[in-house]
Amino acid sequence: TAGPPLLAVEGVSVFYGKAQALDAVDLQVREGEFVSVVGLNGAGKTTLFNAISGLVPHTGSITFGGAPLAGLSAARIARGGIVQCPETRELFNTMSVRENLDLGGAHLPKSDRARQLDWLLELFPILRSRSAQAAGKMSGGEQQMLAIARALMMKPRLLVLDEPTLGLAPVILEQLGRALEVLRTTTPITVLLGEQNVTFALPHADRVYVLEHARLVWEGPPARFAEEAGRAYL
Ligand code: ATP
Repeated sequence: TAGPPLLAVEGVSVFYGKAQALDAVDLQVREGEFVSVVGLNGAGKTTLFNAISGLVPHTGSITFGGAPLAGLSAARIARGGIVQCPETRELFNTMSVRENLDLGGAHLPKSDRARQLDWLLELFPILRSRSAQAAGKMSGGEQQMLAIARALMMKPRLLVLDEPTLGLAPVILEQLGRALEVLRTTTPITVLLGEQNVTFALPHADRVYVLEHARLVWEGPPARFAEEAGRAYL
């Protein structure tokens, strides 16, 4: 499969003061790929995603759709199609589920917005039954699904999911996993997923990177992970 990758991260480093959080990271994501970055707490996943989203300063180069992102604001990068669903979810807690979703699709033409909403309520049925409920009153797992649905309302070219499983109960993990699998197999969406939970991250991934102490130390298909990289995780 030729052609330039949708996202190309080259030699990206990030420092917080003297502490190096990313060290010369190279990573590519092709259009339509589902790529997982696995790493323990503190390895640098959030920092990598924040660099991509324009939220932390970095050295090295990041290009999206062939164009360098250097100098673009986070808002510009989001409008350009990179939508990050942060660990902290950032929902509007006093607004209803439906209102949160509507905000995600605010920039879409009305007919698009309705179609997108229908599709998302099918993907996450729980959100249909909770449509009028305040986002802040839902369980952690429901909030996570809402945050992902809202990000999808924006019709991203690249959806970045930062540790969606954090703190979720097993039954919710299963629901979330099913939704991601439907996404992966029925839509052309491109996803970059950061996870500590390898058991969750591997089954959905077309390709996996391992991030360890600010460095990418392995890259390959999930089928080779256990043998070549899994010792520290499994
Ligand atoms: P987590 O599972 O906690 O999200 P992570 O893999 O996403 O972990 P990061 O949050 O990117 O890791 O953190 C990478 C390293 O940088 C850690 O050692 C962390 O303590 C440090 N760090 C993160 N943010 C800051 C900051 N604003 N100032 C200083 N150090 C930071």
